[in-house]
Amino acid sequence: MTTTSPPTSGRPGADPSTIIEVSHVTKTFVSPDGSPLPVLDDISLDLREGEIVALLGRSGSGKSTLLRCIAGLIAPTAGEVSYRGQALNGANPGVAMVFQSFALLPWLTVRQNVEIGLEALGIEPRERRERAERAIDTIGLDGFESAYPKELSGGMRQRVGFARALVVEPDALLMDEPFSALDVLTAQNLRAELLRLWQQKDFPTKAMLIVTHNIEEAVILADRIFVLGANPGRIRTEITCGFPQPRNRHDESFAALVDQIYGLMTGRDTRPPAHIWTQAAPGEGSPIDTPLPQASVGGMAGLLEILVAHGGREDLPKLAHELTFEVDDLLPLVDAAQVLGLAEVDDADLHVTDDGRTFVAADILESKQIFARRARERAPLVRAICNALHTTKDGNLGEGFFLDLLRRGFSEDEARQQLRIAIDWGRYGELFDFDANSGQLALDHSSAQPGI
Ligand code: ADP
Ligand code: MG
Repeated sequence: MTTTSPPTSGRPGADPSTIIEVSHVTKTFVSPDGSPLPVLDDISLDLREGEIVALLGRSGSGKSTLLRCIAGLIAPTAGEVSYRGQALNGANPGVAMVFQSFALLPWLTVRQNVEIGLEALGIEPRERRERAERAIDTIGLDGFESAYPKELSGGMRQRVGFARALVVEPDALLMDEPFSALDVLTAQNLRAELLRLWQQKDFPTKAMLIVTHNIEEAVILADRIFVLGANPGRIRTEITCGFPQPRNRHDESFAALVDQIYGLMTGRDTRPPAHIWTQAAPGEGSPIDTPLPQASVGGMAGLLEILVAHGGREDLPKLAHELTFEVDDLLPLVDAAQVLGLAEVDDADLHVTDDGRTFVAADILESKQIFARRARERAPLVRAICNALHTTKDGNLGEGFFLDLLRRGFSEDEARQQLRIAIDWGRYGELFDFDANSGQLALDHSSAQPGI
């Protein structure tokens, strides 16, 4: 039912069922200090009539950037996006978007929010109103035409988001994590409803492209899934997902595919940051080419404890499900445990290492020592901070020093995030401390650590 194949490379645009074709798209932003920040690398894919395609990747893998290129809101640095065989030169005329944040105008009613897209197309008021009412009806918002967004629940607001996109009858519907701001049940409900509408003959769009970080969501909805890797974003694999709808997440084959994708997104055959880290001998790797996973020590320690309580080995999708964690929440914790050598992934199983067991069983002082040693050996940013602080007379340095270094390879937000994680790790290991008032990092002299 399911096949994995190498990424599709540019197909001839002559296929009449091809709506959108992305051909060798690269996008590079400029970081604040002027150095290039590659976000998308040589992406090729297509969207054809009658299919739902998912772009699946972890946060930061460039999914939103790719979707904005496809919508023609930003131009690729290299490569091309074409719509119905025509290269884009500005906004894509055949698409409408649904956003994670709903992006509704709070001072307009539901009906006015839905009519906005039609106004832009120059459609006269009577027809606007009729079409808006039809779309509102279709998406289950009947009776809420005059309500304002603030009066609606998250699920209802996103219905407005869908109605606003569908009312223009786009050739293709683009969705950027449309369900991820909703609670689990609301998301499930709206997803099922979207599928139900999609299967009706009069659904006003011919193809859907959904960006998501949620593996199960991709497997529930999509006919094809493109799995993106990060740093920079590139297509790791294309998966054809042929199970009939409606799909049952408890089916063996469904679970097997979810497992396979979990493996892909954490595994050694790919190149997530953790891979480089665990391969690097101590002393190798720089804070820029080996970013810290976005994981707190508390979160990672919690995951290890649960893992040990499960006998030391557990299936990742099962763990995520039990913890009602999203992939984006779970995978950084898995990365952190892998980076520190406290756990390993094979296939989609996470298992604890001997050091991981010791870390969980030890008293707090010993856990901290294990953690500190591992972090200094394997986390370049933690090591770099320790080393820099040791070179100063009083063991103090301002955060600005480290942020300047990090900005060479990260955006402003990411640089701050990296430093925040390193401080969390350094504090836990009693390697160094941070005074938020003065903005100073300082060696922790109370530390139980032997000298560096
Ligand atoms: P995703 O949607 O997969 O989370 P994004 O496409 O939002 O990823 O972002 C990918 C990377 O590009 C991130 O590192 C982000 O900081 C960076 N980025 C996105 N937009 C810009 C921009 N306008 N300028 C600089 N960097 C950007
Ligand atoms: Mg995004």
